[in-house]
Amino acid sequence: MLNVHTIPAFNDNYLWLVHQSTSQDAYIVDPGCAQTVIDYLATTNLNLVGILITHHHSDHTGGIEQLQQHFNHTLAVYGPSNEHIKGITQPLTISTQDTITIPSLGLVQIMSVPGHTLGHIAYYIDNKLFCGDTLFSGGCGRLFEGTPEQMLQSLKVLCRFPDNTQVYCAHEYTRANLDFALHVDPTNPDLIEYSAKVNPITCKKHPFHT
Ligand SMILES: [Zn+2]
Repeated sequence: MLNVHTIPAFNDNYLWLVHQSTSQDAYIVDPGCAQTVIDYLATTNLNLVGILITHHHSDHTGGIEQLQQHFNHTLAVYGPSNEHIKGITQPLTISTQDTITIPSLGLVQIMSVPGHTLGHIAYYIDNKLFCGDTLFSGGCGRLFEGTPEQMLQSLKVLCRFPDNTQVYCAHEYTRANLDFALHVDPTNPDLIEYSAKVNPITCKKHPFHT
């Protein structure tokens, strides 16, 4: 079973530290900064062995270099081959979807999900989806590079996973996304129900973001 630790970063980023329950070897997903990861690791007995990158934005990649220095350049850094990301050691060329074996994690499904950026990828491990800035609670990522059609297609790819899939997005935008969704679709009963469960004071930030 994949264990996931949450490391908050910046104003609203989520860094996900993951490892199989049978292993202390861990990977960090989208480390936009390094020190918070190093500090968190010091409170655990986990060994950081690698990094999983979803796309090139600096709030997802800014910690790669410092983490490599801290761990004596031993980290395996996975990420899309078609985005300019400094420090990738395991470039992934994904046309639509592929399954690879990552040491200590096992089988990992990787999907191409263009829209937020053109080379954006997502990782599916066990029943957990790490979707970067493609899908959020109550919304989707801003279209910096792709078209609405590409984003819609990418969201359809993610919709194919089972209903019990746990989604680990990279930002906390729930409140702002639901406010926007209710503005567009004010009588939607699912939105009204979900909105009532979400703390009104969390994350009032505008949903447009990096
Ligand atoms: Zn981004």
